[in-house]
Amino acid sequence: MIIKNAKIVLENKIINNGWLEIEDGIIKKINEGSYDADGLDLKGNWLLPGFIDCHVHGGYGVDFETGTLEGFETFSRKVVQEGITSYVQGSVTNSLDNNLNYMKQFSLFMNKKNISGAKCLGIHLEGPFISPEKKGAHELSLLEPPNISTLKLLIDASNNNIKIVTYAPDLQDGNFTKYLLDNNIIPSAGHTNISFSECEKDYKIGFRHITHLFNGMSGVSQYEPGLASFSLYKDDILCEVISDGIHINPDTLKLIYKIKGPEGICIITDAMNAKGLNDGEYKLGNLEVIKKGMKVSLKDSGVLAGAGATYDHNVRTFFNSIGNIKMNELIKMTSINISKQLNIFDKTGSIDINKKADLVVLDDQLNILKTIVEGRILYESK
Ligand SMILES: [Zn+2]
Repeated sequence: MIIKNAKIVLENKIINNGWLEIEDGIIKKINEGSYDADGLDLKGNWLLPGFIDCHVHGGYGVDFETGTLEGFETFSRKVVQEGITSYVQGSVTNSLDNNLNYMKQFSLFMNKKNISGAKCLGIHLEGPFISPEKKGAHELSLLEPPNISTLKLLIDASNNNIKIVTYAPDLQDGNFTKYLLDNNIIPSAGHTNISFSECEKDYKIGFRHITHLFNGMSGVSQYEPGLASFSLYKDDILCEVISDGIHINPDTLKLIYKIKGPEGICIITDAMNAKGLNDGEYKLGNLEVIKKGMKVSLKDSGVLAGAGATYDHNVRTFFNSIGNIKMNELIKMTSINISKQLNIFDKTGSIDINKKADLVVLDDQLNILKTIVEGRILYESK
């Protein structure tokens, strides 16, 4: 397969007019200039590495918590319309039985071959190991302090498919953090009321990822600096950012970008099941919610109830809020940083020789035109 007439965004360079050769789903050649013979003509549009969402709970009517294989597959097929080529599937606080069932179904899903969709990389376990003080929409009665015995049960049920665990580092002594690192799981500090100085212990042990910066954590205060301050201060902590324009004010996105730079951010959706559906009334677990535009709120109180924005919306919102982001800086926040963090950067996450052809085609307004997973076109805009 040849892809031609593309503005190709590489890790450290942009080719203003170039072409790619793909063989068996792998990128074999990257060239500058025009290609005269037949090929997929991108007509001067952008070609980027496919987006990777490391924090999402559902969409298109699918709530991952229901734990059905069919739902997992539907999501994987639908989410390519957002430019997503890989994702990490979230799980929220639930009873142990429900979580074990979810993990078991998930391990079956991970064994399935030939799903014509985006690639699922594993689980992002967001609860139960979080703080009651910053629990957000999680169920208070089901929270547990971080503990290795429950974690082991979940890891086993998932068949070692847990990749990220959100936890409150202040509610454990460091052994939980060590255990995650020893098992190649990313410790992600989040939903915690930890102080700046308390963060040092687990930072020294090795946490370098935080769950949705500013949302569900101790913040930036001159008197009581918390996890948000700490993760802005440390250059090598990767911050998940929900850049839907609702969970973080666009002016705060400017501040985050100024401090962290493109190396310190990964854009996420944290989306729930109504993402990608029409405006209307939906259920989030047992709660009645209303989706209006990209916003989802509780029907009764109007309080935000999860995120409803698509990944491409968040990319555009981030891009437009900052202004003047170079495309090879943008791809750090959508693809490169998180694939390095997940240890898959040798295979995907950027456009490079011998990497998988996981690609997205965008117009100048960053609308998704095509999504290509391992060389197969799985989405084309009408
Ligand atoms: Zn979440």
